Amino acid sequence: MYLKAIRAYGFKSFADKLNIEFDKNITAIVGPNGSGKSNIVDAVKWVLGEQSVKSLRASDSMTDVIFSGSKTRDPLKRASVTLVFDNTDHYLQCEFDEVEIKRTVYNTGENEYYINNAKVRLKDITNLFLDTSANSDSFNIISQGSVQNIIDSKPEARRSIFENAAGVLKYKKRKEESLRKLDKTNTNINTVSLLIDEISETIKPLEEQSKIAKEYLEVKGQLEHLEVSLAAIEINDINIELEENQKRIASIEQEILSLTSSNSTDAANLELLKTNLLKIEDEINKLSDERLRIADELTNGLSQKKIMLERQKYEIDEKVVENSLIELKEKESTLNKNISLRQIDLDKCLKEKDDLKSKIDELDNSYLNKKVLKSNQTNDLNVLNKKIIEVTNEISSLEYNINNDIKVPTSVKSVLNRHIEGIYDRIGRIYEVDDKYLNAVDIALGASSNFIVCENDESAKRGIFYLKNANLGRATFFPLSVIKSRYLDIDTEKILENESGFVDIASNLVSCDKKFRSIIENQLGNVIVVDNIDSLNKIGKKINYRYRIVSLDGEILHSGGSITGGSNKSKESISYDKQRLTNLTLSKKEYLNSYTKLEESISQLDKDILMIEDEKINYNQELVILNEKYNAIENDLKSYNNSLAEIQNEISGLDAIGNNALENEIMKIVDLCNDLENKQNIIDKQIDEAKIKRSSLSDEIAKEELNEKQERSLINEKEKEKLSLESNIGKLEIKLENNLALLSDKYNISYDVAKNEYVLDISLNAARKQLLDCRKKMYAFGDVNTGAVKEYDRLKTRYDFLLEQKEDLEKSCQSLLEMINEMDEIMKSKFKDSFEKINIEFGNTFKTLFKGGKGYLKLTNPDDLLNTGVDVIAQPPGKNLNSIALLSGGEKTLTAIALLFAILNVKTVPFCIFDEVEAALDERNVDTFGEYLKSKKDKSQFILITHKKKTMEFADSLYGITMQESGVSKIVSVKLED
Ligand code: ATP
Repeated sequence: MYLKAIRAYGFKSFADKLNIEFDKNITAIVGPNGSGKSNIVDAVKWVLGEQSVKSLRASDSMTDVIFSGSKTRDPLKRASVTLVFDNTDHYLQCEFDEVEIKRTVYNTGENEYYINNAKVRLKDITNLFLDTSANSDSFNIISQGSVQNIIDSKPEARRSIFENAAGVLKYKKRKEESLRKLDKTNTNINTVSLLIDEISETIKPLEEQSKIAKEYLEVKGQLEHLEVSLAAIEINDINIELEENQKRIASIEQEILSLTSSNSTDAANLELLKTNLLKIEDEINKLSDERLRIADELTNGLSQKKIMLERQKYEIDEKVVENSLIELKEKESTLNKNISLRQIDLDKCLKEKDDLKSKIDELDNSYLNKKVLKSNQTNDLNVLNKKIIEVTNEISSLEYNINNDIKVPTSVKSVLNRHIEGIYDRIGRIYEVDDKYLNAVDIALGASSNFIVCENDESAKRGIFYLKNANLGRATFFPLSVIKSRYLDIDTEKILENESGFVDIASNLVSCDKKFRSIIENQLGNVIVVDNIDSLNKIGKKINYRYRIVSLDGEILHSGGSITGGSNKSKESISYDKQRLTNLTLSKKEYLNSYTKLEESISQLDKDILMIEDEKINYNQELVILNEKYNAIENDLKSYNNSLAEIQNEISGLDAIGNNALENEIMKIVDLCNDLENKQNIIDKQIDEAKIKRSSLSDEIAKEELNEKQERSLINEKEKEKLSLESNIGKLEIKLENNLALLSDKYNISYDVAKNEYVLDISLNAARKQLLDCRKKMYAFGDVNTGAVKEYDRLKTRYDFLLEQKEDLEKSCQSLLEMINEMDEIMKSKFKDSFEKINIEFGNTFKTLFKGGKGYLKLTNPDDLLNTGVDVIAQPPGKNLNSIALLSGGEKTLTAIALLFAILNVKTVPFCIFDEVEAALDERNVDTFGEYLKSKKDKSQFILITHKKKTMEFADSLYGITMQESGVSKIVSVKLED
């Protein structure tokens, strides 16, 4: 490789384009002082990447190398230099046979580098020339006056020449890079270690929290699964039971209906049977009476027959007849007297009997009335009982709702049940209000009745934190420390004072604990309450719709004028439940009072009925006695009448004695008696038949009565069963509602989803037991940081990553250290090898240049080959100097040149540029120097800047630099002959 050409434009004094062509031999550049020769050396160094402004003899910055102008020329804006190398031997590690290196600097300070016109980085140029002995720092380019520096510099500074010659720069550079990397890697290891330490401190407690949170979430999940699946099962069971109950009620109603109708038919039959019985008894009585009458007639007939037969038998004396007649007439008169007396008794007895009968009839009527009344009242009692059960069911449902805050959102209930410090209650529970204003206040508060009253924003934060952590939804908090009262303005208050229909400001209608007053006044202090919708509109208009107005019926006029109204009470409100509860409790009380009164009345009726029955028994007994008495009197009368008839017969018999008609009379009486006996037999038969009928009817009646009684008790049983089923339905409906509320309020899922997606894989009993366990566990957990799970996972991933990173860094640290050691070994070996060779050559070149004497090199610290300095020992012939500092200027230069030549002997150097290197030498030494160059020109190209004619003599070609125009260098080719 050799330097074929230098082209420059704008570099220092080269204001015009400069083009110097070189060949491989020795070229000398000559010219007067200040013409610009040294600028050529600067140009070469500059292109090869020199960065030291001082070394380029510039003052402040690299832009100083741009032509700065002269008397006749303006300054230029850029400097550009190109070096053209012949690289046919491929000394430079690149594919081109000719390599053009170009550098340009602009007055803006911007630098550009090119290799064969391709834009490159400075680094690419320095890498191309690294360890080629042709770089900007290399010993082959020696600037003016610097040759002695090789001798004058310190041993450590001198070392670089040897490193350059040894070709270790690329290793040195790589080592520096590796050391930088090592340093960076160590810094990274420290940073990563710090981070690992930091994370280690937090990861432990977080791991614990995450473990607890995972357990908590698992239990929570189990709880949810169990609660939802059990609720779904219960809903299903309840629905089935409800359906069964309703079906059963329908069937019972049907049964009651058919039993009642059959009972009515039976009752009608019974009445018919009883009527028939009465008829038969009547018939028996009539037949008995008839038989008595016939028996009397028969007795009379028989006695007449007896008398007549007697009269026929005996001849009766006229006197005896007369006496008998007198006696008989006396008897007749006594009998007539007795008869009229008994008749009086009989009439009296009959009257008593009639009185008693009418009393019995009265009792029967009264008995019937009482029975009907009792039946009606028993019906009423049943209806009342049903109502009481219904009301009681609704009351217990309402009480459940109120006590369990069923209509309060789960989030609000959860916060309140948690008893968090500084959390008081919801607004809806901090005040009392008269029933008549309940509706208005309720409407005025609206949703804010579920806002939570708390001490301050800290306590609100605690509540929100709890809701977030437990994922329970949202709630609104009213901190006492923040919420201020609100009032009406004075003008409005004045207007209201005189308005009819104005009731009061809503906040005045409620009472509450003093400390909650601001909350109440904030919500109700600017709400006006009026009596009805007319006042609402009238007053709203008067106050220009500036405030909310609520009527006692629940209509609301919003500020601005919009009106909300309709159904008086929202069934969703707790106040509605409370008011309904009050009303129902009152109704229940009234129902119970009526129930007690009815019960008393029925029991009184029972007593009355019993009493009537007793009385009836007494009267009947009396009637029996009276009947007996009547019959006795009647018998007496009959017996008197019979005796009277006998006596009258005897009298008429005695009267007819002597009369032939006696025979006929006897015949007549015999016929009559026979006829009567026949009739009596017929009647006896009829009486027997009627009695048989009566007995069969009585049996039938007894049977019917039993049947009817059984039916009634069956109806009662059915009624009871129906009531119990209805009460059960009430309870089931409450249960159903609670389960549905649990699904929607707490878990926000529908029954269908719960039924299809939450399936139990264990028995019901086991699930219920597990649910209890879960609840206990949840309670025992207390406050749990559920965010810890994600945070721990995130931190653990980072922690593992950092550990891995640290390990990788430590590994790369290790491999860097190994690499550095390897490079150190290479550098040491190369340096030592090169040094030893140069040392041998230096001994030779020194002797050649000095024509004797002794020169050698010495390492200042041979044990540290990487840092050791290099001492030059020079003893010109005949001199025994201890220090090279004592050498003359020429001796120093010659020693330095000896060293340069020694290096040139050891290492191939493609080209050398020496700027007045030999200036300090005498002619003899210049000659030696020239000869030496000549001997080496086959190996290296030499470009010499010189003033010495002797030196020029050794050159194969010559260039002259002139400065004909002031400040601008020009090149002239000089003919060697000239
Ligand atoms: P000597 O023989 O005395 O060593 P030389 O030929 O080596 O002289 P140089 O040192 O190469 O001369 O050139 C110096 C000249 O370059 C000076 O005259 C200086 O004015 C000129 N010069 C340096 N920098 C610039 C620049 N940026 N713009 C214009 N001229 C410059």
